[in-house]
Amino acid sequence: MTAEIFSELRAILGPQGLVSSPDELRTYESDALTNFRVMPQAVCLPTSTAQVQAILRICHRERIPFVARGSGTGLSGGALPVAGGIVISMARMKRILEVDLENQRVVVEPGVINLDVTGRVASRDYFYAPDPSSQSVCSIGGNVAENAGGAHCLKYGFTTTHVLGLEVVLADGTVMNFGSKTLDAPGYDLPGVFVGSEGTLGVTTKVTLRIVKRPECVQTLLAAFASTNEAGAAVSGIIAAGMLPAAIEMMDSLAIQAAEAAVHANYPACGGLLLVELDGPVAEVETLMEQVAAICRSIGASEVRVSQTDEERALVWKGRKAAFAAMGRLSPNYLVQDGVIPRTALPEILNEIEQMSAASGLRVANVFHAGDGNLHPLVLYDRRIEGQEPAAERLAERILELCIEKGGSITGEHGVGEEKKHMMGKMFAEPDLATMNRLRCAFDPLMLANPTKVFPRPRMCGEQPGEYKPHPLELAGIAERF
Ligand SMILES: Cc1cc2nc3c(=O)[nH]c(=O)nc-3n(C[C@H](O)[C@H](O)[C@H](O)COP(=O)(O)OP(=O)(O)OC[C@H]3O[C@@H](n4cnc5c(N)ncnc54)[C@H](O)[C@@H]3O)c2cc1C
Repeated sequence: MTAEIFSELRAILGPQGLVSSPDELRTYESDALTNFRVMPQAVCLPTSTAQVQAILRICHRERIPFVARGSGTGLSGGALPVAGGIVISMARMKRILEVDLENQRVVVEPGVINLDVTGRVASRDYFYAPDPSSQSVCSIGGNVAENAGGAHCLKYGFTTTHVLGLEVVLADGTVMNFGSKTLDAPGYDLPGVFVGSEGTLGVTTKVTLRIVKRPECVQTLLAAFASTNEAGAAVSGIIAAGMLPAAIEMMDSLAIQAAEAAVHANYPACGGLLLVELDGPVAEVETLMEQVAAICRSIGASEVRVSQTDEERALVWKGRKAAFAAMGRLSPNYLVQDGVIPRTALPEILNEIEQMSAASGLRVANVFHAGDGNLHPLVLYDRRIEGQEPAAERLAERILELCIEKGGSITGEHGVGEEKKHMMGKMFAEPDLATMNRLRCAFDPLMLANPTKVFPRPRMCGEQPGEYKPHPLELAGIAERF
């Protein structure tokens, strides 16, 4: 980037809004997946839609790739800078613009922290339902881009269910408004297209969210089983009984150990721990909770405990939400994976993961959204021991291949980003990828928005879509296509 471009950006953003010194840029060289690092040329910190628009017009004119960034907690390298490009951090766009309780809507800027939305409406008995474990630090813009999930998305739905309208700036600087506060806008579901697009279609600058009335009663049950197999059978039993709990979470013994060491959640030592939360009217919750407890006991739970106070309930969740970060207590390094399988395949896949873990000599901890079939295997390794990091990466990848084989997906909520783009070809057929690419090009024909992420083989927008013709080296098994 030339000195003229830097001064143009400085004129738009003011001296506080542009980071360009190498030391400060280092903060932005990765997201929470620190295996990948790229230094950006500059980081812009806009405070308004007009500033985002002015930045993108320069990027468009000069063909500079850009990556939007929220809080940088992403686990798939989505906010990883692109070589030669800039990062647009939304950290200073963090105003809650409107609270409309009558219509159960809140309008926010993208840098607002997830938990702050609930913080703003909690006194009026409302909450924002999607609750990623990172919710005290991750941004709404990042949640929208990743279609973030969380423990309570089993009942309430992922981010996409709660985003009704978006203001976005496209890569050429055009400001667009998709959706609104009301439901059922005619035409294509463009908010639906934008949610989960991982920053590849433009930059979100305003989000209209749905908020939900707090239920009359919430109860959380904790059940200890000898193994995750039994805990899995309890999950099937609860769902088969026709219940839709607010959350069903499972942790194996390694995950329990780590969480206990970190936050002393008073979890029983066992092979498979189930957390089941029910919410709704008091009478309904109390009746159904008795049924849940009976199902757990009938499957052999050694302990069934219902939290008696809000403090006890908060502690149970604190342990679960701290489980990823707590892995540092058990291992110097770990990879967090995020695969989805049909819920019924849980016992089978957990057994296979156990066998793969034994064969590779690497420990795998499991903590997951059992109700959604969304696994989070954590592959533990030590980078200092030669060969362990690549072995951990191979094991993590093999687990995802297993998810595909079982009819599931390579990501439930953490996104494809940089990390899993080479697996998209294993999950989708060529015409599927070509269709997605055409959609991307409709928004961003020059491919400037987060251009190297999500897709295995970045194609140019002018490229003729159609059947992929493998290269002779690929056919000979000498080269692989990413
Ligand atoms: C300890 C821990 C626990 C986690 N638990 C969960 C969990 O339970 N559920 C879950 O879903 N995720 C979880 N995550 C992953 C992560 O927190 C989520 O993916 C979150 O949505 C990322 O938000 P962010 O603001 O940090 O976004 P970033 O990491 O900054 O960016 C993520 C992606 O969003 C894009 N982006 C950001 N802002 C914008 C914008 N304004 N416009 C366009 N694109 C944008 C970026 O380009 C990037 O592709 C966890 C992460 C950690 C570290």
